[in-house]
Amino acid sequence: MSTVTAYAAPAAKAPLERTTIERRPAGQRDVLIDIAFVGICHSDIHQAREGWGQAIFPMVPGHEIAGVVAGTGPGVTRFEVGDRVGVGCMVDTCRVCDNCRAGLEQYCVEGPVWTYNAVGKDGRPTYGGYAQQIVVDENYVVRIPDGLSLDVAAPLLCAGITTYSPLRHWNAGPGRRVAVVGLGGLGHVAVKLAHALGAEVTVLSQSLRKKDDGLRLGADHYYATGDPRTFEVAAGRFDLVLNTVSAPLDFAAYLSLLRTDGTLVNLGLPEEPVELTLQALSGNRRSLSSSGIGGIAETQEMLDFCAAHGVGAEIELIRADEINDAYERVLRSDVRYRFVIDNATL
Ligand code: NAP
Ligand code: ZN
Ligand code: ZN
Repeated sequence: MSTVTAYAAPAAKAPLERTTIERRPAGQRDVLIDIAFVGICHSDIHQAREGWGQAIFPMVPGHEIAGVVAGTGPGVTRFEVGDRVGVGCMVDTCRVCDNCRAGLEQYCVEGPVWTYNAVGKDGRPTYGGYAQQIVVDENYVVRIPDGLSLDVAAPLLCAGITTYSPLRHWNAGPGRRVAVVGLGGLGHVAVKLAHALGAEVTVLSQSLRKKDDGLRLGADHYYATGDPRTFEVAAGRFDLVLNTVSAPLDFAAYLSLLRTDGTLVNLGLPEEPVELTLQALSGNRRSLSSSGIGGIAETQEMLDFCAAHGVGAEIELIRADEINDAYERVLRSDVRYRFVIDNATL
């Protein structure tokens, strides 16, 4: 075991504080990673505050991890010391179920071992990326292409793959109209990716406050959802609506924006249930679906796509002692557009 510095929530809703955790030694197939940067995903906040139900404390959040390989177990074949690598939301799965074999490890029938707030195959709690180092099986580590700097790449490990996977699955591309609801961490990456894929992109944000940014990121149109006229102007317009909002929404209103055979893909995971009147689905043969992160091979494909198209996150780099303030700002939707922790400040 080695002792590493980390930031942890000692209990639900308690502020995060500096502490130490134990990491296992790199086993046969393990990669030891010096973490350079880690993004703050809204999921970190949901979990650190126990908003999704019972959680494991102390909790070291962080699943948008970018760093450099510092050591490898004897059986590691894919990585060498010095390689630039990333780790996302999962660090292991069963590897043999249909979903694992199909590259859909995120839907492993046994459930993935999540990067934190979970129990690893060794029976010990997993700890995430708000830490100096992490040890991960090489099959759950991806390569960060040279064209991407580690700080703007870190958020791609969750926000990037979570939006890339549904954009690809529902064929966002030329001739397709895509709306992104919420211009936060996931939303701003979704706009960049949908634009890079060639789709016509619309941002649906609470206000026009971030309109200039949205257009600069690649949106063709930008509407305020606080203005009821938006739902008249944009009715029946989109092939695909990606909802990235962290709070419950009026789903019926957003479903009305779909054209025939359009799909609303829900990505946001609010802490409260939402109500939906099913008549909202019956017009235009609309679909309501969802998507969770993406598989390991698809995460690598996403990073390669981002490098090829110059897509990185727009980040605000913070020191570790600013994490609690950053959480408050994310909760106020006051983030442009992802907080990233400089792990050298731990
Ligand atoms: P974020 O940075 O906080 O962005 C959420 C955005 O939603 C905000 O910037 C804001 O955009 C909008 N919003 C917030 N509160 C709202 C409200 N009450 N009404 C309407 N709009 C509101 O969060 P994130 O990190 O992108 O994560 C978003 C959600 O996705 C979270 O629930 C997270 O847990 C979930 N998530 C899911 C997956 C998955 O695999 N499905 C993966 C990662 C994260 P505007 O100001 O532009 O309106
Ligand atoms: Zn996340
Ligand atoms: Zn599996």
